[in-house]
Amino acid sequence: MAIADNVAAVEAAIEKNKALANRQDQVTLVGVTKYHTVAEAQQVVAAGVKNVAENRPEGLAEKQAAFADHPDLIWHFIGTLQRRKVKQVINEIDYFHALDRLSLAKEIQKRALKPIKCFVEVNVSGEESKSGLQLADVAPFIQSLAEFDRIQVVGLMTMAPIDADATALHGYFKSLRLKRDEIKALNLAWAPCQELSMGMTHDYEIAVQEGATFVRVGTRLFEA
Ligand SMILES: *Cc1c(COP(=O)(O)O)cnc(C)c1O
Repeated sequence: MAIADNVAAVEAAIEKNKALANRQDQVTLVGVTKYHTVAEAQQVVAAGVKNVAENRPEGLAEKQAAFADHPDLIWHFIGTLQRRKVKQVINEIDYFHALDRLSLAKEIQKRALKPIKCFVEVNVSGEESKSGLQLADVAPFIQSLAEFDRIQVVGLMTMAPIDADATALHGYFKSLRLKRDEIKALNLAWAPCQELSMGMTHDYEIAVQEGATFVRVGTRLFEA
């Protein structure tokens, strides 16, 4: 299947699952190009995807150089960012999806030239191997960001366990949504927290049913 067909299929599935959940709001498809070549990424963009994500500074730099003639693209950094690499990345992106510790917040504050739209990463399943804050630590962490004027918490992000069944996935995504609602209701100037970044190739349809506003899809765009 061609990449353009894959993009269309994912967009149709997003709409279908929005309808199932009676949603009228917007879901942004973020195309994750990290394991793919510039030529493949170009096909994704040609198919109409405007939001592109990478998870390593080198990959981001390579793709951004290749898309220098596409100023309309919106760039996302997903995945762990080492503190010493913050300065390389933070002013090149529109959204950062992996804020999970105070030391990283401090480095962003130091290096960012303007407020950065950040998602706080949450480990909803509590899996040892996953990064992200425990649900109970999310509100105190966000409260502790009050003085960081270069960080705007636009929402929460999670990655579900790869082997979770549908029931478990609904549960994980719902708990992130409820936490988002709780933070949003605090009306913190630095944390509007209206967005939910959740859902990947294997689980984006369930994530949309549970309220995802950004889905991060890689594999499905490149393979049927
Ligand atoms: C790689 C990655 C994705 C996309 O994963 P697929 O399964 O290929 O869709 C989404 N989010 C994060 C944080 C990733 O690292």
